[in-house]
Formats: sequence, structure tokens, C-alpha cells
Amino acid sequence: QQALLKVEHLKTCFFTDHGVVTSVDDVSFTVGRGETVAIVGESGCGKSVTSLSIMGLLGASGKVVSGRIEFEGTDLLKLSKKDMRRIRGNNVAMIFQEPLTSLNPVFTVGYQIRETILIHEAIGKDAAKQRVIELLKQVGIPHPDRVYHSFPHALSGGMRQRVMIAMAIACRPKLIIADEPTTALDVTIQAQILNILKSLKELNDTTILLITHDLGVVAEVADRVMVMYAGQIVEQADVMTLFAAPKHPYTRGLLNSTPKIHKLSEQLESIEGSVPNPLRLPSGCRFHPRCPNATDICRQIPPRTTRLSAREEVACWLYDEVKEAASG
Ligand code: SF4
Ligand code: MG
Repeated sequence: QQALLKVEHLKTCFFTDHGVVTSVDDVSFTVGRGETVAIVGESGCGKSVTSLSIMGLLGASGKVVSGRIEFEGTDLLKLSKKDMRRIRGNNVAMIFQEPLTSLNPVFTVGYQIRETILIHEAIGKDAAKQRVIELLKQVGIPHPDRVYHSFPHALSGGMRQRVMIAMAIACRPKLIIADEPTTALDVTIQAQILNILKSLKELNDTTILLITHDLGVVAEVADRVMVMYAGQIVEQADVMTLFAAPKHPYTRGLLNSTPKIHKLSEQLESIEGSVPNPLRLPSGCRFHPRCPNATDICRQIPPRTTRLSAREEVACWLYDEVKEAASG
């Protein structure tokens, strides 16, 4: 499978009044064409910062300090602002948790999506409008003609998220980055939004990078999963493998704390303890203060990433043969 997106040794920092915060620390992964890859972890683990780094949307205080982000072979970090904007419009689109913040309140929904199309494609206004109506239908909006003329605030949260997805797919992007796309929605609507994402994947062969704290969502749509903790990927595996045989103690903790019937009100109960302050990271393995399996080496030396099989990696001393050799 050819990689559409390749992230290598990504390191992203925020320069704050309290010091330099490293939110993403040496993260590497690839996303193949047509694949749906999820990044999971508690909030503050660096999931969103990873996606914003890819999109070039870190804001004034954030900066990618090292690494590469390759999209179809082009290093995105070397592009000018203008070229990056073009990539964002044509090739990579993002869906956020709260669509109201990314929709302009003063324009109708139809106008906004139509303008997006007109900026990126040389087609007439009528053709563009027709496309918008088709897109609204595709994301399951029951009265596309009416919604076309609606303002964002007049729509429900679920409808707005559909509109956001319609806008995201308007220019037929190769990659969609969806950051907690269902978190703000109630359970029924969540399920509908997930079905839309699944249909995009099947019909358009869209590649999706899904950011979520919700393993229920992961099980529903992802092919592959990366688990992030304290700015690093601690485990990557195919979704079946991860759910059937989680390797990293953090992944196991996440799975144990996922309610069987997933409801918004029962969000993932966190594992005992909390995500470390990035300004005061624990020594050795960053998870050691919360890990039931921690030993001396864990407290002293950060674990390396060990490849367990072609598509499975884990960063934990429990799986490192060097340690075995040293102690044996
Ligand atoms: Fe736990 Fe040690 Fe593995 Fe870290 S390296 S997750 S502390 S067992
Ligand atoms: Mg987030």
C-alpha cells in the first residue's frame, strides 16, 4: 500500500510564558491511500497538535521544530504559506469538533460551500450550486434546497457537522483529517456521522485520519490505530489486533475504561492518575507513574519502539528484547 501521508520524527513545540512545551515528540507514522487511521489517547496527549501540524494550522505560538511531513512525496514543511493553503483547499481537508467555529455565521451554508468550490475549480456558479446540493444529499441532509439557504446558527449540531463534512469533501480531498468529529453530538447523531464517514471511505476511497478519545468510534471506522501518550506514539496496530490483544499497558487501560455501551455521558473514565504536565515529564517511560507494570528500568530509561510484526509496534520495556538479554 502506497503511503499518502508520511510523518517522520515530528516534533512540535509551543513557546509559552511558562517555557517551551513539547506537545509532539518524535512521532512517526504513515497513512496509506484509502486507509482510515485513528489516533487515540486522552486529551492533552498531542493528538490534535499532530493534526494541526500536518495542516499547518498551529497558530502563532506553535512550531514544528523538526521532522518531516510528506504528502504524496511533497514535504509540507517546506511549502510557502500560499502553497500550503492550496494543499488545504484541494488535497487535505479538516473536520473539527465544533463546526460553528469553522463556519462563517454571516453567510448561508450553500454560499460557503459554493465559494469553496469556486475558489478551487473553474466551473460556473450554477454548476457549483448543483454540486453543493449533491454534496448536501450525500451527507444525508434531508432538505438540501432549504439547508442551502440556511445560516449555520439556524441548524442543529448534527446538521452543522454534516454541512462541515460536505464542505470538507467539496473539493474531493485525498485526505480528510477529522478531529473528534462526533464528540459534541448526541449518540444517535454520532452514529449517523460515523456512517457518513464510513460511506466516504467506501464510495470515494477517501483516506481518513481520525482523531478521537473514543475507542467506540475507533472500533466503528478505523482500519489501523495509533495510541498516543504524552506526545508520543506508544502503540500502533491494526484495529482488530489492538482490540483483541492490546500490548501497551496504557492501551490496556484505555480499553478497560471504555464503557461497553458507549454513551456521551459515560466518557472514557481515565486511568488512575493523570496525563503528565508537559513541562515536567516523568523520567524514563512517561507512563511509569500510572503503569501497573512499571519496574526500575521504566523509571530510568525511556523504552524504545519495538516492532512486533509488520504492522504492529509498541514502545514499552515489556516487549524489548535488549532488556531481556541484559537481565538474562
Ligand atoms: Fe509500563 Fe514500563 Fe511499559 Fe512504561 S515501559 S508502559 S512503565 S511497563
Ligand atoms: Mg483535541
